[in-house]
Amino acid sequence: MPLWSQDHAYNQAVNALHYRGRIAPSPTGLMHIGHACTFWKAYQRAIEHRGTLVFRNEDLDPQRSNPSYATAMIEDLRWLGIRWQEGPDVGGAFAPYEQSRRRELYVETWRKLRDGGFIYPCTCSRKDLALSAGAPNEGDDEPLYPGRCREKIGESTRYETPEGVNWRFRVPDGETISFDDLHLGPQSYLAGRDFGDFVVWRRDDVPAYQLAVVTDDAAMEINEVVRGADLLKSTARQLLLIRALGLSVPAYYHCDLVRDDDGVRLAKRHDALSLRALRESGRTPEDVLRLCRGSE
Ligand SMILES: [Zn+2]
Repeated sequence: MPLWSQDHAYNQAVNALHYRGRIAPSPTGLMHIGHACTFWKAYQRAIEHRGTLVFRNEDLDPQRSNPSYATAMIEDLRWLGIRWQEGPDVGGAFAPYEQSRRRELYVETWRKLRDGGFIYPCTCSRKDLALSAGAPNEGDDEPLYPGRCREKIGESTRYETPEGVNWRFRVPDGETISFDDLHLGPQSYLAGRDFGDFVVWRRDDVPAYQLAVVTDDAAMEINEVVRGADLLKSTARQLLLIRALGLSVPAYYHCDLVRDDDGVRLAKRHDALSLRALRESGRTPEDVLRLCRGSE
């Protein structure tokens, strides 16, 4: 039996108790229709379970995030008809709902991973990595790390704080990471082949996506994660973090990615497919939701 096989009866029991889902956009541009469709699905699942939907602003990256986009994404998702019970604009028991204000929690996670011997400082330069690593895997932006800094795992405790180097999670090479997706069924990835030692804290002192998401989903007591199928492999990485940290595993529901008539993923198109542009061209929320249908 796979280590992370979801016990559906258990999940149903938890969800019947109280479903907590989330939508977690990054304010790095106008809300794109591909993401909006996924958020719509998350909203629908929260309604079906009579649960709580949390809005989390994933504005961790100071280089790429812009507060005016954060305001715009809230407006645009409300225009589409999505409602949430907790978020930066409405507050809630798990505030703050902006990742940029949750740094202490991420540092605490980093410290636990360091103390547990799960991560190591990686001093490879961008150039070192370009020379030794293969091309990024399909649909994945992180190339397979060749592991040259692995022996530095013993040096980890010399670091009081994470800044200054990249921190990588040492994956168990050859271990199969399996989980049952509520929409796409059984999923399986091989650590060390499908993904390598991944970054949990960046050299420029920004916590990486995987670490922040795992920390926040646990802290906000999220028990179902709805997101795009482009993040399936991220889920495998996050399951390793969840295990290392002794956290409980949420249920996962990965949506198909919406494609246009030419088969191009909508999320990859940057022309007039933001909710803002569609709205300004006179489309209604119903028009947009019709475009979303392919994602269910
Ligand atoms: Zn390295």
